[in-house]
Amino acid sequence: NEFEDYFLKHDLLMGIYEKGFEKPSRIQEESIPIALTGSDILARAKSGTGKTAAFCIPALEKIDQDNNVIQAVILVPTRELALQTSQVCKELGKHLNIQVMVTTGGTSLKDDIMRLHQPVHLLVGTPGRILDLAKKGICKLEDCAMLVMDEADKLLSSDFQPSVEQLIDFMPANRQILMFSATFPVTIKEFKDKYLRRPCVINL
Ligand code: AMP
Repeated sequence: NEFEDYFLKHDLLMGIYEKGFEKPSRIQEESIPIALTGSDILARAKSGTGKTAAFCIPALEKIDQDNNVIQAVILVPTRELALQTSQVCKELGKHLNIQVMVTTGGTSLKDDIMRLHQPVHLLVGTPGRILDLAKKGICKLEDCAMLVMDEADKLLSSDFQPSVEQLIDFMPANRQILMFSATFPVTIKEFKDKYLRRPCVINL
């Protein structure tokens, strides 16, 4: 398998090669083509397998850079992971005009509000802060066609789960959900049955 096989935008392919990725990793080989068809995914993958690019590449591919609305949200459990993930998106999307924003708790809400007055295509952050911004009507998610949940087991801990579910209610009914988790506790199964539609289950 080659990255060329996925018929990605040329500018995205350039970003992938410039990052030094020659061939898709196993998880990328399984996830990217399925994510590009619009299917929901539940994938068991540890970090170190290339899972970040497995969801960043389809998100970057699907975003229309000429439409200045939030089209994808990547939810993560920590600020650290949000920063790392947004960095990967920025590197892979170096030759695209996709605006990536990071938003997490523990930082200035006012700064985030200011930032959201400018174009944002892809939002990476933690559930509580994104929900705050959505409730205020500042972060508009009605055109957000893709939700990625990284470390989904942690996102479905009792602290986060209610915020995640409320956030999904701000998104369109036909949104695509990509879930990645190292473990599959019962909370994941319940969430999958409630929110995912005929998901493709990837178990590496
Ligand atoms: P991750 O599991 O997303 O944390 O990625 C682990 C490491 O693998 C990171 O340093 C990535 O930059 C790297 N990586 C991801 N995909 C590929 C690939 N297709 N080829 C080479 N390295 C990769």
